Amino acid sequence: MDGRYLSDAAHFPGGHAASVEVARAVDDVPGIVRNARTLLTVGAQSSLTGGATPMGEVVLSTEKLTRILEIGESHITVEAGVPVAAIQETLAARGAWFPPVPTFTGAFAGGIVATNAAGAATFRHGSVRKWVEALTVVLADGSVLTVERGVRRPADLGIPVPTYRMPGVDKVSAGYYAAPDMDLIDLFIGSEGTLGVITSVRFRTLAPQPTGALAFVPCASEANSLALVGELRRETAVAAIEHLDRRCLEILREDGADRRFDVSVPAGTDLALLVQIELRHDLTEREAYDEIQASLSAAAADTPLIRVCRLLSRHGLFDDTELALPGQTHRAGQLIAVREAVPAGVNERVGRAQREIDPRIAKTAADMIVPFERFGEMMRIYRDGFSRRGLDFAVWGHISDGNVHPNVLPRSYADVERGKEAILEFGREVARLGGCPLAEHGVGRNPVKQALLRGLYGDEGIEQMRAVKRALDPDWKLAPGVIFPRRVPDP
Ligand SMILES: Cc1cc2nc3c(=O)[nH]c(=O)nc-3n(C[C@H](O)[C@H](O)[C@H](O)COP(=O)(O)OP(=O)(O)OC[C@H]3O[C@@H](n4cnc5c(N)ncnc54)[C@H](O)[C@@H]3O)c2cc1C
Repeated sequence: MDGRYLSDAAHFPGGHAASVEVARAVDDVPGIVRNARTLLTVGAQSSLTGGATPMGEVVLSTEKLTRILEIGESHITVEAGVPVAAIQETLAARGAWFPPVPTFTGAFAGGIVATNAAGAATFRHGSVRKWVEALTVVLADGSVLTVERGVRRPADLGIPVPTYRMPGVDKVSAGYYAAPDMDLIDLFIGSEGTLGVITSVRFRTLAPQPTGALAFVPCASEANSLALVGELRRETAVAAIEHLDRRCLEILREDGADRRFDVSVPAGTDLALLVQIELRHDLTEREAYDEIQASLSAAAADTPLIRVCRLLSRHGLFDDTELALPGQTHRAGQLIAVREAVPAGVNERVGRAQREIDPRIAKTAADMIVPFERFGEMMRIYRDGFSRRGLDFAVWGHISDGNVHPNVLPRSYADVERGKEAILEFGREVARLGGCPLAEHGVGRNPVKQALLRGLYGDEGIEQMRAVKRALDPDWKLAPGVIFPRRVPDP
């Protein structure tokens, strides 16, 4: 058997499979599902939760389901195995785009729907859920269901709707969607392969694609950055704002990534922001440059770019800001590479500690969101919780959403244990602040994430999810053990 199907990007240990079935066409899927005793559907296996790691099931790979079925004025219909990058390319050739893409564009259409993925532009455009118009799903008994948005309710299929209240934040990837009068399609989105195999998706799209600019903004203090972000969030041209804390900047320096990508971080910088700006689709580099020059004069016209520059000036940050204007693709690539060098540097350190110190050391990180107004409070909670336990840590992520990723830099297995304890504590605090401890990566098989889900909705909530699962998959065939265990774990 091909070993590459036995793990995902989370490097969840112990992956093994009964067999691997690669569907050559969507019509193969019902037969594969019917014949399997248990089955795990996989896309690109970029899951960060172990949700795409088999534990003895038949693995159903969607990698050959790569047909683009239809492109309309404002939608695209694709098979489940089409990578996000291919969707982007196909649409770009027509001047259109699909906004809610995750950072990893190798993820497949089926995978991003199954996890309700989110991306940098989610702040402005929402997560994948909002963009799904229709799905074709193969159910556990092999029957094929087509679900259009706005047509059916779970009750039509005899499925009970859970009564828990989902957190009122924009990114939630925490078990089954539930709301009074909910749409059936929303049950499948974010269900992580536990309720059906998605074989095709119709996504809503937009046109024309805006042109992009980026601003890398070193800030002297968190108070400084929060004041700026609070104002930038009100600017309609701002699609996303990323955040790198002081430890992240040290990691960039330690790894030489700042020099490699030609980004200067002045002495005294406490954190940096990367602001993603969407501008008029036909704005040229020259026009953008002229607007920036004009922003220095009080009499200049009021364009989105001028407003952003003025905000940076008003907060005393314009002079240290590095910009990538429309058309400056090399510079934009460098600024994005600096942002991506942080998770890469952290993962590299975790891997080294695993090899050199203790093989039990693993990535110990969270993916939590709070309403933006509570962001400063949440950062204090992360810092206090990690520092109290003597842990080295770095925090980065999507500050415009109030969603960041606190990561431990473990120096021993004891650090991993203490980190997990801190993350469970953060989950309780984040829920208290009106947020969600599981924002964009899903729950998967990760025991800490499953515990966070239980903490969020209680045992009663998990039991209601089991009732949904039983209604659609009474033999517990699809992705058993993903999101929640079949039975209540022993205390
Ligand atoms: C470098 C990197 C960056 C990332 N950045 C982001 C980010 O910005 N935002 C974000 O949300 N995530 C991010 N992720 C996580 C990951 O990319 C997403 O969870 C993605 O949606 C998974 O897609 P996939 O095709 O790889 O699915 P897999 O990893 O193969 O599967 C994920 C889950 O979906 C189920 N599944 C997959 N396909 C189907 C299908 N056709 N039908 C039913 N169930 C299915 C699987 O059973 C599994 O439970 C990142 C991961 C990496 C490695």
